[in-house]
Amino acid sequence: MVVPKQYHYVGPVEIKQRVLNSAVCPSVYSKQDLLQRLRELEFEFRPNQSLIVTYVIDTSGFLKITDRHNEHVICASGHNVFSAGEMTFGYHKQDCVIENITNQSTGYCPEPESWHAVQSALNHIGIEHPEYFEPAFHFRRCTHCGQTNLIKDNWFVCAVCENELPKDWNFDK
Ligand SMILES: [Zn+2]
Repeated sequence: MVVPKQYHYVGPVEIKQRVLNSAVCPSVYSKQDLLQRLRELEFEFRPNQSLIVTYVIDTSGFLKITDRHNEHVICASGHNVFSAGEMTFGYHKQDCVIENITNQSTGYCPEPESWHAVQSALNHIGIEHPEYFEPAFHFRRCTHCGQTNLIKDNWFVCAVCENELPKDWNFDK
């Protein structure tokens, strides 16, 4: 098995400091754990209900979810992750399913390739889920002003200083 790439936190230091005062977000090892977590997040297990949550895949390969208003670094207790983003839960045919998953996390800026870690964690839990990120985001750090940019429509230009952005993922420096 290929060991997934680890992503370290690249967001503002002030946010990471909040980890110290935040409750530890438990890992989800089973479907039962997941349903328990969703209940804690006040998900209503009824048709036409959906809930968007913040998630990370920890470096043991397990899912963690928290309220979408929480930062990924809080969800991960400040640690590295295999992936991070947002998940939408829904309820169909009397079962809980995942309707959508993204890799949108400016705290960790995970690459689309981190999908494999997400898929592996979800297969372990045994929950119905999409086949890929929708959308799959690309992040680049501006080498001139340091801004974290979310690439849209293949437009590799910094939103702040308008300098050209690198073609390769560059948060590992
Ligand atoms: Zn810039």
